[in-house]
Amino acid sequence: MTNSASIETLDTEAGDPGTTTFAVGLDIGGTKVLGVLLDADGTVLRSVRLPTVRGGDGVVRSATDVVQQLASDAGIGVTAIGSVGVGVPGLVDPLTGSVNHAVNLGIPGESFPLAARITDELCGPTVSVDNDLNVAALGASYALGPGSDDLAYLALGTGMAAGIVINGELRRGASGAAGEVGHIPIRPDGPVCACGQRGCVELYASGSGLARRWPSSGDVPAPLEIFAAAAAGDELAREIRADFGAALADVVRIITLSYDVERVVIGGGVTGLGPQLLELLREHLEVQARSSAFLASLKIGDRVSLAPNDVPIAAVGAALAGLRKD
Ligand SMILES: [Zn+2]
Repeated sequence: MTNSASIETLDTEAGDPGTTTFAVGLDIGGTKVLGVLLDADGTVLRSVRLPTVRGGDGVVRSATDVVQQLASDAGIGVTAIGSVGVGVPGLVDPLTGSVNHAVNLGIPGESFPLAARITDELCGPTVSVDNDLNVAALGASYALGPGSDDLAYLALGTGMAAGIVINGELRRGASGAAGEVGHIPIRPDGPVCACGQRGCVELYASGSGLARRWPSSGDVPAPLEIFAAAAAGDELAREIRADFGAALADVVRIITLSYDVERVVIGGGVTGLGPQLLELLREHLEVQARSSAFLASLKIGDRVSLAPNDVPIAAVGAALAGLRKD
């Protein structure tokens, strides 16, 4: 095992150089599995998307089906794949590849041996499993290229959490909770969060937090409705949008002050808002910086960007994480 294996050195460090030339990354979500096949240069050669079959056995079958289809599409055998890296939403023991409480995948219990089960099915590649935000952070760091070794990938989805990369390595934390920034309380008098605390930032700056205050009336997601109504002058929408911007700026400031990362990359479903999200965030960061020369000197607004949407960063990051376990 080596932590220094990089995708550029796959052909010399990933086992038998004559047969293990390819790496696979799988992004397993609640509804679909997205798989990518990478060559030794880190180029995405193929991608395959299949529905996720829920439950432990179903997830194992979905994952192996995607790997086999990637190999078949590329005209190679599964034995030519040196490593399979997997990202899943849930608590993962990265050493054993066991998954705990992955409720979105229909794996509610403790310690389902996902890596071991996929290994048994595939008979060849080294299989590793990690949290989906961790692999997305690695994928974003890789996709953004030089200058992205210190990075936070902040996902605004149903909830809010971040993956942290420091010096090119994942920061998981002593108990795997590094990056659980959605549960930083910012309003002591706020509503009670599912975690038991009050006024957590994800109550104001996640998809569910926005939908809580502005239930979507139809097919358009709540964030888009709120921004459209705010632009049209609706007072409540303007208040929710302002709270959203302030909360997001708070969490970005906390991340930057904690880790001094070069970049904070915003991803997740709420980024469907597009550039107006970034504009709002920068406005609120600017307000913070106006009253603090210290904050102004950190130029936090220059560090934020939206996640690249031309690269499947979670699947690519899963492949990279798999290589590092090889
Ligand atoms: Zn909370």
